[in-house]
Amino acid sequence: MQVYISADMEGTAGVTGWGMTNPGEHDYELARRLMAAEVNAAIDGAFLGGATNVVVNDSHDGMRNLPLDLVDPRALVLSGAPKAGSMVEGLTEDFDLMFCTGYHAMAGSPSTLAHTYNLTVQAVEVSGRKVGELGLNAFWAGTFGVPIALVSGDDVLAAEAEALVPWARYAQVKEARGRYASLSRGAEAARAALRQAAEAAVRQRPAMKPLQPPAGPELRIRFTNPGQAQTAAVCPGAQRLDALTVAFRHDDYSEVYRAFRTMVTLASGQN
Ligand SMILES: [Zn+2]
Repeated sequence: MQVYISADMEGTAGVTGWGMTNPGEHDYELARRLMAAEVNAAIDGAFLGGATNVVVNDSHDGMRNLPLDLVDPRALVLSGAPKAGSMVEGLTEDFDLMFCTGYHAMAGSPSTLAHTYNLTVQAVEVSGRKVGELGLNAFWAGTFGVPIALVSGDDVLAAEAEALVPWARYAQVKEARGRYASLSRGAEAARAALRQAAEAAVRQRPAMKPLQPPAGPELRIRFTNPGQAQTAAVCPGAQRLDALTVAFRHDDYSEVYRAFRTMVTLASGQN
């Protein structure tokens, strides 16, 4: 039983501001310890539930957040960037389940620190369905037949996960009280919730379903300014729909995911 963990940081209990999530800034060292401890709880729960192998992909910012000496030594840690697959790098059909820990809800939502990849993105749709990082990554996992079995973060993300992957276990570690405020469970309580949910997720594997992307997926990204859309539209195959919106369609979801990353990377140079 192989478990893949995509570990983000913003949805960790006690993490409430960009100053905590940007390396080198105030309280970042605290945030990465809190993140590592929640990841460890998910790893421990996975093994308690019957996992034999766990790989953690550090999925936040420059992807060098998890201090290796603080991570449960039973797990392998994939870190550093850029990685071709970004938040889902290394995920293959060899894995049985995927966990998304420390996640946040989509850009434009009231989730604490909500965004979708970066702050150039206002909204993302795949074939008319609004998605954030959870949805984009869940579709990717679905192409490998891997179900999302556990998600952790705040109450806003809980609703997003319920609509998208209702079979997944959810560990709510905080309640959003604003873009830069949240009511967190204590660190130990958050970890206990994660451990319990992770164990249950692995035990309930037969109930977990891969989220298949729609056939012929069409991606639409609405950027925050026209310069970003203009630059993103340079991506081969992209089509500019209006001042802020760029679309990309392909039969293969992995190409859509690549186009998403390409367009967002291009756009991020335009403030
Ligand atoms: Zn992040």
